[in-house]
Amino acid sequence: NRLRPAGAEAVVISIANFKGGVGKSTTAMTLAQGLTLLGHRVLLIDADPQGSLSTLTGLVPDLDVQEEDTFMLLALGEEDSIRYAIRPTYWDGLDIVAAAPLLFGIEFNLPARQVKEMANGFEFWNVLNLGIDDVREDYDVIIIDTAPALSYGTVNALMASNGIIMPLPPNALDFASGAQFWTLFTDLTENLIGAGGSTKTFDFINVLLSRVDSDDASTMVRKWIIQTYGDKVLPAEIPRTVVTSAASAEFNTVYDISRYDWNARTYKRAREAYDNLVAYMEGVVRAVWLK
Ligand code: ADP
Repeated sequence: NRLRPAGAEAVVISIANFKGGVGKSTTAMTLAQGLTLLGHRVLLIDADPQGSLSTLTGLVPDLDVQEEDTFMLLALGEEDSIRYAIRPTYWDGLDIVAAAPLLFGIEFNLPARQVKEMANGFEFWNVLNLGIDDVREDYDVIIIDTAPALSYGTVNALMASNGIIMPLPPNALDFASGAQFWTLFTDLTENLIGAGGSTKTFDFINVLLSRVDSDDASTMVRKWIIQTYGDKVLPAEIPRTVVTSAASAEFNTVYDISRYDWNARTYKRAREAYDNLVAYMEGVVRAVWLK
């Protein structure tokens, strides 16, 4: 790959929040597509048993996704590498490890595995981290969409990540639950011991202002968010737009739909927001590569 320096590996990014409906799957898919447009190879991992991200890649979780298409076999200890579950998507340069409701089984078998591994001296047995080792050189970026819960699957995803993006719409209830999530996962990850026996550290943990409205209430909560999270708030934010919601009504994103179907200004506003996010995150990825 002409972009990634020799020896650098895929940067792993989790998209996470306690709440559903904050824009996690939309962010995962759109960011991934945008990065491929800049020439990167991207692997999506759907770690949410609801399978929304898989749906955005055109799969029907209940029909198209079997156990062996998810990271379930890693959790069961039947496979060591996630390679078996990777499949191409309709989008050039974008592969996926899919999810379906059956993936909820990891919430039972991962704790059981953990107890066993602890007996062998492992502090935290991270199935995703071990499973992606084999493919780190095949991709520039790996994006994990997580379930809206601090579940076993989510903790695995967070612990396997270089960095985290927490999408957060500026409304009061999302702000409150976002703060709880932030505290919980920073406490949790500070106390979990990562690979190699040292405490897990992240290259970046950021808040993405998502579905941003411009009414007074949203503007006020947007200010609280910036006061609370300071420079952790990404300098690119995503407005709520009809283009994004209309695209997602057809299981598409702003990169899938034709700009010619839209008034130029309306389209540009939605598209530019994601282009800015993608450009900023590419800079973050490069910085991690050069570390
Ligand atoms: P999550 O993965 O957190 O549950 P989704 O990405 O599925 O969230 O988004 C939830 C809903 O919000 C979807 O119906 C989507 O169309 C809508 N949505 C997300 N981002 C935007 C946006 N920027 N503008 C308008 N609607 C959006």
